[in-house]
Amino acid sequence: MEHLRSLVLNSTYEPLQFTSARRAMVLLLMGKAEALEFDGFHFRTCTASYRLPTVIKLRRFINRPYRTQVSFSKKNVLRRDSHTCQYCGGTGREMTIDHVIPRCRQGESTWENVVAACRECNLKKGNRPLNLAGMRLLRPPRKPKNLLFSITPANTPQSHVRSWTKYLTGNR
Ligand SMILES: [Zn+2]
Repeated sequence: MEHLRSLVLNSTYEPLQFTSARRAMVLLLMGKAEALEFDGFHFRTCTASYRLPTVIKLRRFINRPYRTQVSFSKKNVLRRDSHTCQYCGGTGREMTIDHVIPRCRQGESTWENVVAACRECNLKKGNRPLNLAGMRLLRPPRKPKNLLFSITPANTPQSHVRSWTKYLTGNR
């Protein structure tokens, strides 16, 4: 239970941060937030058991203090793309990153030019640009605006991640 996190949304549904499940319960019990999603986990005290929210929404709007820049790295590109090959949609253990415009053609290592790719697609594409390789991207790669995904804590239950997804997409 200590490792569980809840996603906190602003009153406008904008994702703000993750907080400990315990803190989320406190915000609910104080009436400062409302619960939006549950996934079956419970928070137990000596005398009671509460459904643990995976997503809460603040009742009052707060000004976002700052936006953290997500650093560009292979790991974060794979996270942005959910470890899914951006050419064939495949997922697998051997996920690589691919420069959409190849480096030998002055393609840069940027959020907009690097995507997750499975080994097969990476080999198939080689050093060719997309049109010559006859391949296309599932979606245009962008710099994530909201880097919450990059701090998703380890050991997070899949059911938690699923309940967060709809609030985090659109903020990628
Ligand atoms: Zn692929």
